[in-house]
Amino acid sequence: MIGAPSFREWTDFPLRRALSTTTGLHCEFDNDATAAAIGEYWLGATAGYTSYASVYMGSGIGAGIVMDGTIYQGVSSNVGEIGHVSVDANGLPCSCGNIGCLELYASPQVVVAQAADAVARGELMLPLTGIVSEDFAAIGTAANDGDPVALQLIGRSADYVASAVISMVNLLDLQLVVLAGSAFATAGSFYVDAISSALDKRAMARAIHRVEVRMSVNGNDAAALGAATLVLQDRLSPRTLRSVSIA
Ligand SMILES: [Zn+2]
Repeated sequence: MIGAPSFREWTDFPLRRALSTTTGLHCEFDNDATAAAIGEYWLGATAGYTSYASVYMGSGIGAGIVMDGTIYQGVSSNVGEIGHVSVDANGLPCSCGNIGCLELYASPQVVVAQAADAVARGELMLPLTGIVSEDFAAIGTAANDGDPVALQLIGRSADYVASAVISMVNLLDLQLVVLAGSAFATAGSFYVDAISSALDKRAMARAIHRVEVRMSVNGNDAAALGAATLVLQDRLSPRTLRSVSIA
């Protein structure tokens, strides 16, 4: 592991070698968003697309990127850090060193903190547990039930994610964006709608081609299933998805 912002204590720890030594097995290693993007291909959601990204939202927000049928891994597998794209140049300082990062405005942790404030003010009736994933799911459920405060909280997060996705699409000229990860399990439809609508109105190439936005076929297990397909990817089609993908 070279360096994940949320796991600083693991920086430079030789995880792949340690796992291989302990298990006696060959181990493949990649970040959750890239694994989700590869899994999306192997499990059949990207037929017909050669340039796409998975946006993966769990504790953080990342993206896995496939360009012209090839997985883009950068120089250190720290590719697709969309959560650390600045959405406010005059915004809050982030632990990564940048300013105004998407995660500071749109992550489940931030939405849950905003919900806790709303509960404290008596504006939102929600029994929060203190476990971010459960509380974020509860906010998503409340939004699905039409609670106006929950809708506002999820809507604001989705608008920020949409802004960052537009930047990514404008940079890479993608055909498809797949939303994966546990955070999209209950609130995913709001994010699909917000991102899709924003791309239709604001993406640079919108007059030339539409960018489709959809939920992952792998649901909560997108990263785990994707990780399981890393071995297939490594053995059958290293780096490229094109050779076995679209005719
Ligand atoms: Zn950051």
